[in-house]
Amino acid sequence: MEFALNAENKPVVVEDDVVVSLQYTLTVDSEVVDSSEEDGPISFIQGYGYIIRGLERELYGMRAGQSKHVSVAPADGYGDVDPEAVMEVPTEELPEDIPLEVGVELEILNDDGEELSAIITAVNEAAITLDFNHPLAGKKLEFDVTIVDLRAATPEELEHGHVHNEDDDEEDEQD
Ligand code: ZN
Repeated sequence: MEFALNAENKPVVVEDDVVVSLQYTLTVDSEVVDSSEEDGPISFIQGYGYIIRGLERELYGMRAGQSKHVSVAPADGYGDVDPEAVMEVPTEELPEDIPLEVGVELEILNDDGEELSAIITAVNEAAITLDFNHPLAGKKLEFDVTIVDLRAATPEELEHGHVHNEDDDEEDEQD
């Protein structure tokens, strides 16, 4: 790695293997659906696909302190809506403790043991309709981002593929 470094020994611009600290607000259909304001900036290694592809691509070359508005098309965001990902399930096949209401989100194990999220989109007497599409599938994502800080990733972080925070206990790590 050879970054252009500034006087504080930090990378000057966002490039691969740089740890980016990012404030963001995500607006969809003119509504704020997610923001880092409460929990503080997110940190990730650029180039590892930790954030939405269409956003990560637009961060290259940005400097600390810089802000930008980024529009991400569905194909570079949460994908297009897949009509095949919607299914009807007979009510009698459902566990009794599930609230059968439109808008309820369920975690469902598929045959491979993977956990999938689905939202109930319709309820009638005999069956419910489950939509396995991501809630933001088919949506244009409007990000407002500010680069809070940049630093070079440590060799250990690059090896693990994720950011280590000072207060993390590496010995407890599962990976
Ligand atoms: Zn690690």
